[in-house]
Amino acid sequence: MIAIYPGSFDPITLGHLDIIERGCKLFERVIVAVLCNPEKSPLFPVQERVEQIRRCTQHLENVEVDSFVGLTVDYAKLRNAKVLLRGLRAVSDFEKELQMAHTNHTLWDEIETVFLATSNEYSFLSSSVVKEIAKFGGSVDHLVPQQVALDICQCYAETPPGATPPIIMNPPTPLNHFQVE
Ligand code: ADP
Repeated sequence: MIAIYPGSFDPITLGHLDIIERGCKLFERVIVAVLCNPEKSPLFPVQERVEQIRRCTQHLENVEVDSFVGLTVDYAKLRNAKVLLRGLRAVSDFEKELQMAHTNHTLWDEIETVFLATSNEYSFLSSSVVKEIAKFGGSVDHLVPQQVALDICQCYAETPPGATPPIIMNPPTPLNHFQVE
């Protein structure tokens, strides 16, 4: 059974990695799919996020990393996957995630969303928390994979404390609906 783990991953955290590692024990294949959302101004462009995730999942044999544009269910159909993997941290996640799971089910009744409860040590952790700490010069070494911490450090190195680094534009939206590599 193939599972898609969709998300922004801007950047990937140890909480995301924990979900990927545990998902790999449950599914034959886990496709980590970075959503290319033109509405958001990300810290890292999609392609860099894909590479960051590839680097820190090298030890996992049944992981694939990809990016996509559009509806997650359409991407799942394209990849022949009937499971969406998501992580749950708190009640606040639950409301949003439940709504999304129901919505996706109305779009394709064969899709199922499987939730994994966060490991306790990562229950507070989000990409936004990481960016907030880095913005004020704090260390994020204990929150993200090592190489990602270096990338973040570099990103904020020339930015005054508390300021947001210049917005990195996404690469142009591909002409085809999906960007499957
Ligand atoms: P999105 O913008 O789609 O919420 P994210 O990259 O923030 O994308 O998160 C992707 C998925 O990973 C979501 O299901 C989210 O709840 C889950 N997740 C994020 N951080 C953690 C964490 N610390 N522990 C477990 N799951 C997490």
